Amino acid sequence: MISIEVKPYLLLKKHVFRIAGGARTSTPVVLVRLKYEDFEGYGEASMPPLYGETIASAQNFIKTLDFSNITYPFDVENISAYLDAHAKGNSAAKAAIDMALHDLIGKIEQVPLYQYFNLPKAELKTSKTIGIDSAKIIEERVAEADAFQYLKIKLGGDNDAEIIKAVRHVTDKPLFVDANQGWTSKEEALDKIEWLKEENIVFIEQPMPKTAFSDMEWLVSRSPLPLIGDEGIQRLEDVKTASRFYHGINIKLMKSTGLHEAYKMAKMAQSLNLKIMLGCMSETSCAIGAAVHLGAMADWIDLDGNLGVTNDPYQGHDVKNGIIYLNDNSGIGLINPNWDNI
Ligand code: MG
Repeated sequence: MISIEVKPYLLLKKHVFRIAGGARTSTPVVLVRLKYEDFEGYGEASMPPLYGETIASAQNFIKTLDFSNITYPFDVENISAYLDAHAKGNSAAKAAIDMALHDLIGKIEQVPLYQYFNLPKAELKTSKTIGIDSAKIIEERVAEADAFQYLKIKLGGDNDAEIIKAVRHVTDKPLFVDANQGWTSKEEALDKIEWLKEENIVFIEQPMPKTAFSDMEWLVSRSPLPLIGDEGIQRLEDVKTASRFYHGINIKLMKSTGLHEAYKMAKMAQSLNLKIMLGCMSETSCAIGAAVHLGAMADWIDLDGNLGVTNDPYQGHDVKNGIIYLNDNSGIGLINPNWDNI
């Protein structure tokens, strides 16, 4: 028998975060704890407004679950099917349950989750994300992120050239670029990508709107840089056709409904020769700590969501000089979570 506790929480960002499409200073999350026998498993739903879930919707999803269908942690496959049958969408709420189940499994088996997934222990070089801002602020943020080996630069507004110039004023390190669907014509997108090719850019994430299918088919065959689908690739179903539109996919637990499906997405992407990026929302060290266990499957890591907030209630894997070092605690790897004081 499994029981659940739920805590709504507002995760505060260190800096105003601006991307093509909006700005925010906080992210609503719902923290969960599952109890099974003497074990406790932790999970989290992080819900940036863009994706349509809220604290209320996540609480309602969880409240209406019938826990007679969620009785044994190792039954993840059937539990995932039950969660999907219970209600459409709600992918972050589903991820919270999935993550907590995996935390329980790891604790029962006394293994860190990368071992449960039969993956090697990896040292993960994560990028640090720099939001859209004035040249002066961007230069400050880039200087603050000096320890990271990669930066992820948000573009897709009307000052892309100014932003790249500001970044290059401070550093020549390799950059990931995320346009967040911001380029609206395929010709504009190709022009930007050809320009960025000369700026030591590793790849471009979501250059055009997620529904611009024919434009993306045109662009993917011409782009001199890898194109990675993020908003356009949510779940396993989307990976099947991804190579028509992208060279790779950005897997995030909050889109995939958790680790169970994220692992399947990564396996399918590998079989289709798609590049794999592992990404995140603003999240606590719980959801980030879960995602890092799949790190060995990824070509690129963008798991900095817990590093840009001021009130992370958890402590997880160490990050030094932009490298995430997985600890060997069982399950997700949280260190003495203090649930009662959150
Ligand atoms: Mg993105």
